[in-house]
Parts: sequence; C-alpha cells; structure tokens
Amino acid sequence: LPIPTRTLNDGKEIPQLGLGVFLVEPGETERIVSEALEVGYRHIDTAAIYQNEAEVGRAIAASGIPRDELFITTKLWNSDQEDPNGAIDASLERLGLDRVDLYLIHWPVPALGTALGAWRGLIDIAASGRSTSIGVSNFEIPHLQQLIDETGVVPAINQVELHPLHQRRELRAFCREQGIAVESWGPLSQGKSDLLTRPEVTSAAEAHGKTAAQVVLRWHLQNDIIVFPKTVRRERMVENADLFDFELSGAEMAAIDGLDQQHNFGPDPATYNQR
Ligand code: NAD
Repeated sequence: LPIPTRTLNDGKEIPQLGLGVFLVEPGETERIVSEALEVGYRHIDTAAIYQNEAEVGRAIAASGIPRDELFITTKLWNSDQEDPNGAIDASLERLGLDRVDLYLIHWPVPALGTALGAWRGLIDIAASGRSTSIGVSNFEIPHLQQLIDETGVVPAINQVELHPLHQRRELRAFCREQGIAVESWGPLSQGKSDLLTRPEVTSAAEAHGKTAAQVVLRWHLQNDIIVFPKTVRRERMVENADLFDFELSGAEMAAIDGLDQQHNFGPDPATYNQR
C-alpha cells in the first residue's frame, strides 16, 4: 500500500491516511489493528479516552514493524488538562512505547480555561522527546489564536469533525495560513447521514469504478486533509486505503463542495465539557 506522506510545520512526515479506533471495543482492538497493519496501514489514531491504547500497543508489538515506520497518535483527555506530563506517561505506558508521533489536546473545553496551560505542557513533552509532533483537536479559530499568541508555538495539527456536509472552510483557510495541517474526524460523517447515497457522490463513484466511501475519502485527500476512517472490517480497511489510483475531476470536487450544510453531527467544541 503506497500511502503518501505530508510534511508538517515541524518538518516531520505524517501518512495522509490511517485507521481510527474510536468506539473499537478493547476486546477487538488488537485484532483490528493487527489486521490494519497487515493490510498496510502504518498510521493509527487513538486517544486515552478510547480506552484501547493497551490493545493498540499489543498489536504494534506483535507486528514486528520497525517503530520508525509507524505513526501513532494519542490524545490528552479533558480531565487531564492540568497534568499533561502524567497523562502522556500513562498513555505511553499503556501503549508500551517510549514516544508517540503525535500528541493532541483532545478538546479545548473553554469552560475549564486550562487549554493554554496544557499546550505549554505539550511543548515540554515535545522537547522531552515523548511526542515527536504536537497539536490539538476540536479547536476553533479563537482557541488556536490564543495558543499561538501566548506561546509562539503553532500546533502541527488540528483534528476536527470535517466531511462534505460540514466542510469548515473558514477554519481550514485559517489553518492553511498558519501552517497547521488539518485532520478530519468522522470523515464519512460517522454513518450518521445520507452522505454516501448523495448523487454528487454516487455519480463520481460510478464514473471511476469506486465506492461512495472511496470518493468521499478521496475528496478529503484532494483537499490536502489527513484522514483515518474507522472500520472493524478487513475488506473495508482495504477499500478505504485504495484511494491512490484515481483522481476526482474539478467538476466532481465542485459538486461535492456544493454539499456543505455546515452541520456538525458531533459535539460543539465551544461548549463540550465532558470530563
Ligand atoms: P467515520 O466517519 O470514520 O465513520 C466510521 C463509520 O463509517 C464506521 O463505523 C462504518 O460504519 C462506516 N464505514 C467505514 N468505512 C466504510 C465504507 N468503506 N463504506 C461504508 N461505510 C463505512 O467516523 P469516526 O470513526 O468517528 O472517525 C474516524 C476517527 O476519527 C475515529 O476512529 C477517531 O480515531 C477519530 N475521532 C476523533 C474525534 C475527536 O474528537 N478528536 C472524534 C471522533 C472520532
């Protein structure tokens, strides 16, 4: 599987496609991550709150794949924003790794007011080598601006809910200007919409002999976005990574651009405060 990489603002490379393991049961995670690695995935997106880091780590260890060929992301949970150091040590312990490739603040939680302090913690974590790159998730423009203004350190990544029904154009433009790479979570809208049956998607799928999911994932890639669709089915792992032998035309991209409803199916980052 030839998966292209993208260069981050810290000079590091990230595979543009990976596997997300949100809502993958701990009991199933080792098998699923092992299968993904067998199929050729090298980038895994997990989080402390997913409660499957240990199983991700077991699959990594069992794979025998050299550490440098893998890209592992985990995330700082909201209730740990005041102790990023302790939180990453606990994540590394569960993963059985001495570093991750990317550590993200999972949510800004404006109500807590601790994200800036957490960001300073992530800057120290990067300096200590425990995460090669650092970034954030679910940050809106003002949340990003605060980190940049107060620390001068621009996050390498902002991971947000993003798909053709929720395209985040203003946020993406801001991130582009600032050199922040964008990752889409819920790239297929988490199966919560009719996205995969929209004619703009299915007609492109038919034209290229691809599936609707492949067309949507290709739309992300052609927008320079990093994706890690979730699936527990091996055949879909193969399908979701088979994206590099076709290209959507300008007209097909424009038709999908026209689907933007600016509608989020997940939580609102300005108010989400689960701990
Ligand atoms: P997703 O858009 O990847 O949707 C996953 C669902 O789509 C699957 O459960 C399956 O039902 C369906 N699907 C997958 N492949 C398909 C195919 N080829 N054809 C048809 N249907 C298919 O949603 P997600 O899992 O929520 O997002 C991906 C990853 O993003 C997560 O696993 C997680 O790593 C990350 N994430 C991060 C946050 C955050 O707050 N940072 C929130 C949610 C998810």
